[in-house]
Amino acid sequence: MKITEKAAYIKGLAEGLELDPKDKQTKVIKALIDLVNEMAEEVCELEQCYDDVCDQIDALDEDLAGVEDLLYEDEEDDDDEPVCGCGSDDAAYEVTCPTCGAVIGIDENQLSDGGMSCPNCGETLEFDYDEDELDGKDEEESSDEE
Ligand SMILES: [Zn+2]
Repeated sequence: MKITEKAAYIKGLAEGLELDPKDKQTKVIKALIDLVNEMAEEVCELEQCYDDVCDQIDALDEDLAGVEDLLYEDEEDDDDEPVCGCGSDDAAYEVTCPTCGAVIGIDENQLSDGGMSCPNCGETLEFDYDEDELDGKDEEESSDEE
């Protein structure tokens, strides 16, 4: 039973008592019953408003999800573009051949190998990068005598 129906039921019960309309207590009871009925209607209106607001929030939430999908799609598209403009994703470093002056792009694996042949003139190139030098001379035994 809804509260409006309960309020109407109480009003019907009071009317069934056939109270004396001139009695002061009857006026109090009547006033209370009127108040209860008004409050019940007010609460029902608020509930309806609350439901409407919830529906609107749900609609906004769906719309926002659509906007988020579009935004994230755009970001993914941007990530697909190559970050560096060097033309090759593998060439993380560049070395210049001291013999012929050719600029050679090398990746991290080639760098850790410590050396390679110049593809232009065939000169053996050795990569000395700072980490080895900072670690001291003790680790030079790994390069042996070539
Ligand atoms: Zn060279």
